[in-house]
Amino acid sequence: METLPPPCYDGAMRYSRAFIPTLKEAPKDATMPSHVLMLRAGYARMVGAGIYELLPLGTRVLHRIERIIREEMDAAGAQELLMPTFVPGDYFKETGRWDLYGPTLLRIEDRKGGEYHLAPTHEEIVTDLARREVKSYRQLPLNLYQIQLKYRDEPRPRGGLLRCREFIMKDAYSFDVSEEAAVQSYEQMRDTYHRIFTRLGLEYRVVEADSGAIGGKQSAEFQVLAQTGEDWIVACSSCDYAANVEVAKAGLAAPPASSAAEPQPLEKVETPETRSIEEVVSFFGGETNAAHTLKSLLYVAGEEVCLAVVRGDHEVNELGLARHLGVEEVVLASDAAVKEATGTEIGFVGPVGFSGRILADPDAVAVRNAIAGATETPYHYKNVNHGRDFKAEVVPIRQAASGDPCPSCDGTLELYRGIEGGHIFVLGTHYSDKMQATFLDEEGSSHSIVMGCYGIGVSRLIAAIIEQHHDEDGIRWPIHVAPFQVIITPIGKDEAPLAKATEIYEALRAQGVDALLDDRSERPGVKFKDADLLGIPLRITVGSRGLKQGTVELKERTQNESRDVPMDDAADAVRDAMAALQS
Ligand SMILES: [Zn+2]
Repeated sequence: METLPPPCYDGAMRYSRAFIPTLKEAPKDATMPSHVLMLRAGYARMVGAGIYELLPLGTRVLHRIERIIREEMDAAGAQELLMPTFVPGDYFKETGRWDLYGPTLLRIEDRKGGEYHLAPTHEEIVTDLARREVKSYRQLPLNLYQIQLKYRDEPRPRGGLLRCREFIMKDAYSFDVSEEAAVQSYEQMRDTYHRIFTRLGLEYRVVEADSGAIGGKQSAEFQVLAQTGEDWIVACSSCDYAANVEVAKAGLAAPPASSAAEPQPLEKVETPETRSIEEVVSFFGGETNAAHTLKSLLYVAGEEVCLAVVRGDHEVNELGLARHLGVEEVVLASDAAVKEATGTEIGFVGPVGFSGRILADPDAVAVRNAIAGATETPYHYKNVNHGRDFKAEVVPIRQAASGDPCPSCDGTLELYRGIEGGHIFVLGTHYSDKMQATFLDEEGSSHSIVMGCYGIGVSRLIAAIIEQHHDEDGIRWPIHVAPFQVIITPIGKDEAPLAKATEIYEALRAQGVDALLDDRSERPGVKFKDADLLGIPLRITVGSRGLKQGTVELKERTQNESRDVPMDDAADAVRDAMAALQS
């Protein structure tokens, strides 16, 4: 009888047979650590802008992340299904998102001229399913989820898997009989997400967020902390408060020392080549700092142009400004538009002498004798005081910043950068109203189903984990998501190390440990470098010298030192080390 070849995906692998195409250097356009390392360590390759293939190692990590997500979602009573990616446009037209999504929606025309798109998210499709199948309150609550490809035609795909045009998401949708029940479902998903993000080995914060284009009432983001993240969040150092800077409630900052001073006479000063706050501060020198200046930015808000004034060390919260003005978004005016509206150049615009609408932040109007642009090139004013020299609508329009008081406790806020790993929403009846997804209650009267939705950027999390877990030598996978838990590295030319290493490999394999046997005839240095680059959490090194003493070396990827263990106990030592890393 012919022997069957070993299964190709049995949790173990010989390096000589493995498809791990490592690179000495990553392409120049890859700058973020996760992007560089996924390419260099042979986890992924780019097919087109924002379109990637996951190679076998990357796929192994993906499957591990998916498994954790499935276990936790199933434990919470959610049920997995699979909706189509390629969908008729009618559903998005029903809710208005066919237009709202604009060029981000990848539209497709079929051979009969029918309008379709590749789904960026599935609220409409799942709401349609519910309106067809859910009739009675007895069928609720219900939570349906899928792990599937999503498509968004991002204008600027970046950072490898961090912002892609095709990506893998876990999206879940809850259906409830009432707002209270929907909030319960939301709270349950929030707990589930805590367990998922913790098991993935991520340092993260749950932050209040803007609901954006999805619509809805209550929402929170699970932000993975990373220097390279594109979101800015503030989090309290003492309590759980955290928020995206776009929605953070900025408390009043500590006033600058000058704020108690007596108003001094307004003074115009010629300030050539001083356009930025830094340049203004260095021009005036002495006691001046950014908190003593006013930053004045001209925004186009719909038909209107208005001047936003914040303290020099603060940033304008554009979302908050738009909300206050009652428009979808505000756009910073171009050089030409500034010239047209004020007759001066960017950098010299200020509230004094500006004839249009001015909105100023409370912290900005609290500054006494401030320095601000004179709305005349190239001049600034000294001793600008709100009330006397200019009048503005005083509204909070700045972003929260490091050192701000926490709105929930006595602590202070710190600024972090984050990668959005998950987002949860209470949708209410936004979609069920538009699509008539209703149920009959006990009395037989009809109500809209109350919904929630819950996303996790599964492929993005692969990159986010690397952003948090790497060093200059490579990736450092947390044990729960590593493609292999241990790499066994025989070194030396004689056959004994490879024979012993194979023995340990087979023993671990029999115990269900995902092991990679580096059976390549490479120098020890090459093997060690690759093991570090790949990021396997544990390494067993089998050398001739150790074998004479009856020992092998066990090393953790995150530790500098290895330790000797008796070679006959190697498999047990690996299992103990795995258990320690898992706890
Ligand atoms: Zn606090």
